[in-house]
This record gives sequence, C-alpha cells and structure tokens, in this order.
Amino acid sequence: MGTLIANGTVISPTGRIAQDVLVDGERIVALYIPGTGPRDGHRVIDATGKYVIPGGIDVHTHLDLPLGGTVVSDNFETGTIAAAWGGVTTVVDMADQHTGESVYDGLAEWHEKAAGKCAVDYSFTQMISTLDDESLKAMDYLTEHEGITSFKFFMAYPGACYSDDGQILRAMQQASRNGGLIMMHAENGIAIDVLVAQALARGETDPKYHSFTRPPELEGEATHRAIVLSKVAGNVPLYIVHMSAAEALDEVAEARHNGQNVFGETCPQYLHLTLEGTLDRPGFEGAKFVCSPPLRSKHDHRNHRADLWKGLRMNELAVVATDHCPFCFKDQKELGRGNFAKIPNGLGGIEHRLELIYQGVVAGELSLERWVETCCTTPARLFGLFPKKGIIAPGSDADIVIWDPNRKTEIGVGKKHHSNMDYSVYEGTIIDGRIDTVMSRGTVLVENDQYFGRPGHGKFLKRGLCNYLA
Ligand SMILES: [Zn+2]
Repeated sequence: MGTLIANGTVISPTGRIAQDVLVDGERIVALYIPGTGPRDGHRVIDATGKYVIPGGIDVHTHLDLPLGGTVVSDNFETGTIAAAWGGVTTVVDMADQHTGESVYDGLAEWHEKAAGKCAVDYSFTQMISTLDDESLKAMDYLTEHEGITSFKFFMAYPGACYSDDGQILRAMQQASRNGGLIMMHAENGIAIDVLVAQALARGETDPKYHSFTRPPELEGEATHRAIVLSKVAGNVPLYIVHMSAAEALDEVAEARHNGQNVFGETCPQYLHLTLEGTLDRPGFEGAKFVCSPPLRSKHDHRNHRADLWKGLRMNELAVVATDHCPFCFKDQKELGRGNFAKIPNGLGGIEHRLELIYQGVVAGELSLERWVETCCTTPARLFGLFPKKGIIAPGSDADIVIWDPNRKTEIGVGKKHHSNMDYSVYEGTIIDGRIDTVMSRGTVLVENDQYFGRPGHGKFLKRGLCNYLA
C-alpha cells in the first residue's frame, strides 16, 4: 500500500502546481493532475488548501558537540527529533577534528555518536582545525570514498579551531582539485580577541559586550579575505556560513556579480532577532542569545535584517540553515557569569527554520518558491544530495512536509518546542502556518501534532559533489 497525497499545492523553486503525489515505499513514484491519482489500495491524505513541500534540509548543525567547557544540549536523538517536528528530514552536522588529532578519528567519533540514534537522514561536514599535509590528503579521501564533500574552516577562534590565511589557501587549492565545498566561518578572530581583552579590562563583562566586541566590519573583512583567497585558488566554490552583517553581504553580492562561485548562508536568528531585547536584557539573561557572529544592533548605520531578507529574496544569499548549537541556560550559559567571553556560543533553532522563514513569506519578504528553494532545494544541490533530496519529483525520496497556511504555531517552552533546552530564543513567536505532516522516506514521522518516529530510522547519506555549478 502506498500513500496518495491528494489535492494539495506542490511548491518547488520554479512554481506552485496543484498535484496529487503518490508515494510507494521510500520514494515518490508519480505526480498526477488533481483528482486523477489512484486511490484504490492506497492511504489517501487530503491536502486540500495545503502546501506540499520537500522535507527541509539543514546543512549547518552541531549535535553532541563539546564546546565552551560543556557539551551542546541536543544529541543526535533529541536534535533529530526536534528536526522532524520542524519538517527537517535531512541534517548535515559538523564532525569535529580535535586540534592536533587525525581527521579520520574525528569522523569516526561522529559516526559513533550518530549511529542508530537519528530520527531523520543525516550526513557530515568535516571540520578541519589542523590543516597539515595529512589533513589535506584526508580531504581527498573523504570526498572520494566517504561521501563527505564539504569542509569547514574557521577564521575566528585563534588558539582553538582557527586556520590562518596560508592554511585556508592550501585547503582551497585542494578543494579545487577534489571538488569539495569549502565552508567558512568568516570573522577576523585575531582582531576580535584584542577587542574582547580590552572590553574585559574595562570591566565590560555583560553579555551584550559579546556583540560589541565582534563588530560587523570584522565579519565583512574576513568574508572579503575568504573570497579573495578562493579566487586565487582558482575560483573554488566557497560557502560563507551564518552571515549576519550587511557588510559581509555586500562582499558576497559583489563577488557573485563578478562571476565568482561564492554562496551565502544566513540563519533565522539574524533575520528575526536584534541585540535590542535579547543580549541587552537585564542581569545575565542576555546570555541566552550569545552566538557568533552575534545578533546585530538595530542602531548600526546599516539595517542588517532588512538587507539579509533582501539578499535572500535576490539570491545573494543561497541558503538558510540554523547553526543549531543549543545550550541550556542553567549550568551551561551560566558558565559565563561575570565574563561574557566564557558564555558557551550558540543558539538552538533546528525545529523552527521552516516556520520562521515562512513567516517572511507572510510578511512579503520572499515568495513561497524562494522559501522552498533556500530551505530545501538549494541546500540539496550545493551539498550533493539532489535529486534524491530537496524536490518533489518521481524517483526522489519521499521526504515530504504538508504545510497548513490556515493554522498557527506558537513557539516556546510548553508550546511548540522539542529541542533539549530550558528556553527558546523565539519564545512567544507566532507563525501564521503550521506543519501538518512530516514524512521521511515514506514513513510518517509527525502527524496531527503527534510524533511517530524512532531512533535509527535516519540513515547516513553519502553525498556527491556540489552540483549547483555544473
Ligand atoms: Zn556552526
């Protein structure tokens, strides 16, 4: 018995079409003119008045990651359950290379953490914190044999996962030969460390100083430098993660205008939140909102949020991911009391990306088609998962979300909130739409506000090369 999703509107980057979708086994097997899909012997889900979209793909998450003297609060089980509740059917998590240790050991550790635990399909980006000859060779091996085709580097955090310009250039040259995608955390960490030390010396220890010591200019500068290095390395595809600043967006937009293979990612927190009302809350509550790059001030001379929405609409930004990196307030964020530099960096949001970007559709910031493109289809294409993932089409995996534009969602603890966190940065946010059904490879994970998934349903995905350019 298959499943016929009848009378819905299928959304893809190229448009919206009324279609019946037939699922058999783990795949979509056919699309029909509405009302003509075969019903006999199949379960029929009536999607009248609803949108049928590909399952979301979150290409930037951190599950079970040791960071800031603690470990993020979601492991692969709780994090992927939250993902499923949010209509995310694929996550690409970052496998950590412990500084000075082998890339292969880091990858093996991540496989162990995830095996048998995931509710949805998963893959890894390999983070490289020690770029030496062995790591360069590992990049080739992972690309060719392990289905790991994206590599993440940090221009921030000197003394930890930081790579210098020479190391980054060598990694980019390697990627230009093996076809890997370079993901870059672009902030000038050397300059930031000076500003942090100066602020602490002045007694400026509150959470809001986290933002003031990481100014948008230093994100723009690092983004520029990464783009120049990628050009020198032969116009290798470069993917700038979690862009928060208009200054960085300018750099990506100009590079794209000039024909460079540069792609920008932003996250819901930078589109929806500002420093005001979050990091500047009285007492220590602002710690709940500490992430890097930081939430930006609405009093900056640039309107970062407006520019990022525009960038998303205009394809200057290609992807929305979450950088899901959750901590509880109690005992975790609290590690930074009295010193903002010791607050574990990161926000949770794996569950709320489709919801928060959909709200941008409601507000007229972007189209339904761009919503699906930036959250589902382009991530699949950039990360070598298309057309298995990221599109409603015959032959593709039956990763499907049925979205009801006539219901509402209230985000928050005790409302809709499934991440293992004792707070939500989106507490009380109302979304003018609601996820009805989430299907992963033909299996219903969420329906009627109930969860039917299980750990181990999610499979590791060996990915191909970025196919956005070919
Ligand atoms: Zn990250």
